[in-house]
Amino acid sequence: MSTEQHIKRIAVFGSTGSIGCQALDVIAANPDKFSADVLTAQNNEDLLIQQALKFSPNIVVIGDNKKYPKVKEALNETPIKIFSGEESLEEVAAMDVYDLMLAAIVGFAGLKPTLKAVSSGKPVALANKETLVVAGDIVMRKAVEKRIPIIPVDSEHSAIFQCLIGEARNPIDKVVLTASGGPFIGRKTNFLVNVKREHALQHPNWNMGAKITIDSSTLMNKGLEMIEAKWLFNLKPEQIQVLIHPQSIVHSMVQFEDGSIKAQLGLPDMRLPIQYALAFPRRIKNDFPRMDFRKYSSLTFEEPDIRTFRNLALAMEALQKGGNLPCIMNAANEIAVYAFLKNRIGFLEMTDLIEKTMQKTPYISRPTLEEYIESDGYARTFAADIIHL
Ligand code: NAD
Ligand code: MG
Repeated sequence: MSTEQHIKRIAVFGSTGSIGCQALDVIAANPDKFSADVLTAQNNEDLLIQQALKFSPNIVVIGDNKKYPKVKEALNETPIKIFSGEESLEEVAAMDVYDLMLAAIVGFAGLKPTLKAVSSGKPVALANKETLVVAGDIVMRKAVEKRIPIIPVDSEHSAIFQCLIGEARNPIDKVVLTASGGPFIGRKTNFLVNVKREHALQHPNWNMGAKITIDSSTLMNKGLEMIEAKWLFNLKPEQIQVLIHPQSIVHSMVQFEDGSIKAQLGLPDMRLPIQYALAFPRRIKNDFPRMDFRKYSSLTFEEPDIRTFRNLALAMEALQKGGNLPCIMNAANEIAVYAFLKNRIGFLEMTDLIEKTMQKTPYISRPTLEEYIESDGYARTFAADIIHL
């Protein structure tokens, strides 16, 4: 057997975000295994330039066209190719300059480049859960057709993926997605009505981008993850259970037909599922802090309170009804979170906005990609109009 090491060329889409930066830490720590060959960012040109100078990628993409001259100027002395604008994300995703895409753009914006990578036969390490929430059927069908793996980065799905190794012939009875519960665990509506953005941005266990942090505080994140799990693991809605597990140590579990349960455990540190997805099928040594059972006297699990955290109930409805409803819900949620972060609406008004948009956007049971894109646009405009955004 050859001992020659193959360096995996990673395209980090969304390199300036929380996942993107942690992925670059993993890549930097393993220069014999990985290189960062594509870096993309929407706005944060200073960080993108800094990353480009450090990692010498083949290509960088800056989403905001206005930032292009500054990036171009800063990287003038280097051979790095610089692209800008939304369309160039898809163009670069189709290029044969990388081996694995890390899809770490946030929101609906990640769908097209991720789908382009899959259509071009590129394996994807998927952090951008919204891609599967919006158009999971289309993305997964394409992945099967192209015979490429979609390796989850989301910690719960990485846990399930790891539990399923060696179990290809054994049907899943159910999966249990664990949720930290966010900063407002145990709180009731009379408290939530007064919650402000600063409070909602304080997550007890994870340090993440703003959108997913708000989604965690409303439990919408877990709703999106139920839909993500459905597509990744080909599950029926009733096979997906959510349990609140405030310690965030058990990252998720799978129960098989014999009743046996497998779980994956570890400290809440996204570098671990990121590293696992980049290195799959191998595990690589690292110096991350390790879980020690002696420091945890109890690991607890309880039912989520979906009467108070109604976003999770709405997501369960979208999961059940399928069609374009998850896409509509996702679009309304993106508008709601944006408006909440801008202090334009209150914490509970986010739920009302999502619910109204789900009720009023035309339902399509088996949408095409174009219809998903149209539903997203319709729902965004509808939601933004309600709150005069
Ligand atoms: P973030 O906001 O920190 O970073 C988002 C990245 O996407 C940035 O590089 C940004 O420049 C880019 N981006 C934003 N809008 C864009 C647009 N319109 N077009 C192109 N690029 C755009 O987000 P994050 O917390 O790193 O999350 C990224 C994804 O990973 C999300 O889908 C999130 O749900 C998922 N995820 C994150 C975590 C976490 O710990 N942060 C955990 C699990 C899953
Ligand atoms: Mg998660």
